Amino acid sequence: MTVLSGPSGVGKSTVVAEIRRSHPRVWLSVSVTTRAPRPGETDGVQYFFVDDAGFDRLVDGGELLEWAEFAGNRYGTPRRPVEERLSRGEPVLLEIDLQGARQVRRSMTEALLVFLAPPSWAELVRRLTGRGTEAPEVIERRLEAARVELAAEKEFDVTLVNTSVRDVCDELLALMAVQ
Ligand code: 5GP
Repeated sequence: MTVLSGPSGVGKSTVVAEIRRSHPRVWLSVSVTTRAPRPGETDGVQYFFVDDAGFDRLVDGGELLEWAEFAGNRYGTPRRPVEERLSRGEPVLLEIDLQGARQVRRSMTEALLVFLAPPSWAELVRRLTGRGTEAPEVIERRLEAARVELAAEKEFDVTLVNTSVRDVCDELLALMAVQ
């Protein structure tokens, strides 16, 4: 199992989308979130979108492998599909935030934790501001979270610098030993 984490805006979801396109054999966990869908997002593809009560039920039922609150919304990884793939020996990739990565570190010691780093802080600010889908106060919260997340790089097994999406995908697939 491989966990891809890193600050918001660093390009994790772009990397994941590219792997989904070029390597459909790599199974990507679809998280559950209480965040509203962004334009172009489809329920069951990027996320399963649920309300607060629905998320509470999943937590109470022990159905999440890990979960975290991020910038005012909750995000979690459904446990059963991950465990099914792992029991069949299939590669599993999770794209989650730092708090989630720490939970996986504790509960699944064999997981490989990969940190996706921006080429520079200026580049990260540019990407977070340039997405154009979030209100200024949401961007400010995400920058604050990014500052904390960047300091956590040393907790990870490997760092990949996001200079080009294709290069990062190739490096990640090599780490996962996927051809
Ligand atoms: P976004 O709202 O931009 O899609 O995601 C915000 C943050 O939540 C990102 O850092 C993303 O990696 C993280 N995230 C997405 N799914 C999960 C999950 O299942 N668990 C955790 N802990 N974080 C997640």
